[in-house]
Amino acid sequence: MRKLPRVLVVEDEPSIAELIAVNLRHNGLAPTIVFDGAGAQREIDAVLPDLILLDWMLPGESGAVLARQWRKHERTKGVPIIMITARSDESDKVQGLDAGADDYITKPFSTQELLARIRAVLRRRAPEVVSDSVQVGELSLDAATYRVSFRGQELKVGPTEFKLLHYLMKHAERVHTRAMLLDKIWGDHVFIEERTVDVHIKRLRESLGDAAALIETVRGAGYRLSVQALEAPNKPTGA
Ligand code: CA
Repeated sequence: MRKLPRVLVVEDEPSIAELIAVNLRHNGLAPTIVFDGAGAQREIDAVLPDLILLDWMLPGESGAVLARQWRKHERTKGVPIIMITARSDESDKVQGLDAGADDYITKPFSTQELLARIRAVLRRRAPEVVSDSVQVGELSLDAATYRVSFRGQELKVGPTEFKLLHYLMKHAERVHTRAMLLDKIWGDHVFIEERTVDVHIKRLRESLGDAAALIETVRGAGYRLSVQALEAPNKPTGA
């Protein structure tokens, strides 16, 4: 049910880019190829990738310059970057990591090595929804068995609402803006309107029944899952 991790491959040599893409595709990843920084930026603006494979030597801006830029921007600063290069110099490795790359791989590399590095980086920067369970007050969620229960009663929650609930529970008592939720739950907030969050919050509240009051609307800000909200049911939530 989970979407495949999106890998943006920034590589100006078409044969290498294609070879990487084929291997990634065969291993459960969803690659997109671009040949330079401008193409990469367009792609990132459209769809935020889960990981960027970035060639060092590119026409126009170098991989190091691009990595540095992406690390600075709010939208891209959390996206893991693996730098690809023909150089094996230790100083280049340091420079690449300094520019903000999470890891470094030197050409020529084997598919196994590349995949191992991609998996390691994705694990380190694991998306918010991983297999674990979380408890807030009397509400509990188990991601492994895909169960939500409140006061011992199992609740039926749809897949998106489940992810949303999991995220809110893991970050309880904190206010999340719609844009933040879109980024965390949907992974990309360009083609999805912020209103979508409201729709899923509404569905989530419907699924939660008596526990619905846990999800608080914070006027002008966003949403918060709060135990206090349930304990003070008469407090206006602005919903
Ligand atoms: Ca190159």
